Amino acid sequence: MQPLPQQGQGDVTFCKADCSDVESLIQPNTKLILVESPGSILYEVIDLPKLCKIAHAHNIPVAIDNTYSSGYLYNPLKLGADISVIAATKYLSGHSDVTMGVVVCNEKEWKNFDKLPEALGFTTSPDDCYLVLRGMRTLAVRMNQIEKNTDEVVAYLQTRPEIKTIFYPKLPTHPNHDIFMRDYKGASGMLTIEFADGYTKEDAVKFTDALKYFACGASWGGYESLATVTVPPRTATDWSKRGPFVRFHIGLEDAQDLIEDLGQALDKISHK
Ligand SMILES: *Cc1c(COP(=O)(O)O)cnc(C)c1O
Repeated sequence: MQPLPQQGQGDVTFCKADCSDVESLIQPNTKLILVESPGSILYEVIDLPKLCKIAHAHNIPVAIDNTYSSGYLYNPLKLGADISVIAATKYLSGHSDVTMGVVVCNEKEWKNFDKLPEALGFTTSPDDCYLVLRGMRTLAVRMNQIEKNTDEVVAYLQTRPEIKTIFYPKLPTHPNHDIFMRDYKGASGMLTIEFADGYTKEDAVKFTDALKYFACGASWGGYESLATVTVPPRTATDWSKRGPFVRFHIGLEDAQDLIEDLGQALDKISHK
């Protein structure tokens, strides 16, 4: 993988994942503030109305990756963002069989995007559009069931001594829980666990290998549950001394089956 440009090199400046330091990082050549909320892996939630106020005072548009909510749980344009980007690959299609992206923008930014497919020559196929439109018919029922399953899985994981931290913005212990509850209709199926002290990356790998119902995969948002050993991809904050981490996507399987599977896999690596 290419190393990410660091602050002061190239044209990208990274801010903290909760955007609390954005104002101090704005430069004369800043053209766009691009954010993701909740942030991948750790689910930091941005105070978007506050961020947009700061950005707009400097005449800078705000673009947000809204794949987590896929437009169902969160409406960034209503909160002040100019551009919302969604990987339709995930919840909108919902069946892990399409790769597609969606850009939603306000009237002012739309004019910049209008000519883009023609200028760059990219387009999307009718079959892929059909699959996403078909998937969207069940978006609400899938998202509601996934949230219910995820809540149940999180409640179970909280009882396990092998796990130190659960990163899930619905938990009151999550650092940005209040903003999440204010601005989001609910949670999707993403969560990350950090194992307790003494557990190694090898334990985390053994744990995920022992899972029967969780596939190993990065592209979440389908019907199926996934688990991957991961490291938070952060440059403005150091997470290298923490972990090991496993990221989950909770799917549409029976929650009790998932819980039993997680339980037997944790038993295999437990130090208790
Ligand atoms: C997966 C993902 C993307 C990109 O999705 P693809 O359609 O697979 O390229 C973008 N943003 C977030 C937050 C994602 O999780």
